[in-house]
Amino acid sequence: MRFDAKTRLLVVAAHPDDEVLGCGGTIVRAVRAGARVGVLFLGEGVSARFPVGKHDCSEFHEQSARRWKEANKALKSLGVRDSWQGSRLCVQFDTYPFLSITKEIEGVMKAFRPTMIFTHNPSEVNIDHRITFDAVEVACRPVQAWCPREIYTFEIPCSGNWKFHPTFNPNVFVDVAAVWERKMTAWRCYCGEQRRFPHFRSEKGLEALAAFRGMTAGLPKAEAFRLERGIA
Ligand SMILES: [Zn+2]
Repeated sequence: MRFDAKTRLLVVAAHPDDEVLGCGGTIVRAVRAGARVGVLFLGEGVSARFPVGKHDCSEFHEQSARRWKEANKALKSLGVRDSWQGSRLCVQFDTYPFLSITKEIEGVMKAFRPTMIFTHNPSEVNIDHRITFDAVEVACRPVQAWCPREIYTFEIPCSGNWKFHPTFNPNVFVDVAAVWERKMTAWRCYCGEQRRFPHFRSEKGLEALAAFRGMTAGLPKAEAFRLERGIA
């Protein structure tokens, strides 16, 4: 994985916070190397905390607005210049026509012209993450001029590692030791998403996973990816 001023990295994430959890440190490294980074969020991230079908209340709209505000702050701190906010309901992506999701991704790809895409891997508990992977796979059919040359998947700690039969098998490890504090600064923007250890979404939990992934590649801290397709 190499970044330079010609790199146009598109992160396709299901929810605001996935971009930090999955690849926040790598985004910082890409931006530092001169890459242009865009993040497409396909949905919001709070409606699942309300009873099914009963989210449309003032409390939801307040929480949702707060989450997008947090996301914008996090993106700014990572150095992301372009972003797109989706409105699909959290953990309900299976209730939308699949084609509408792939077409939205294709539309952003056509406009942004990514050379590289990061997205979710399919071995996740969260159904939105799995559908996002499926939709990116379809959108990245190598039939269009805007098809990226490198497609990587990342992991969301509290979704992938709670899978009964996890199959995410990363083969690219990005050294994030030097940018770890930048990742944590972005993560702290998401005030409502912090949890206490031993939850993965605690700072100690995130650090433990980064250390575990790092050790696989002889690094103190790493974000793990799988190269799904590369074209040389
Ligand atoms: Zn998510």
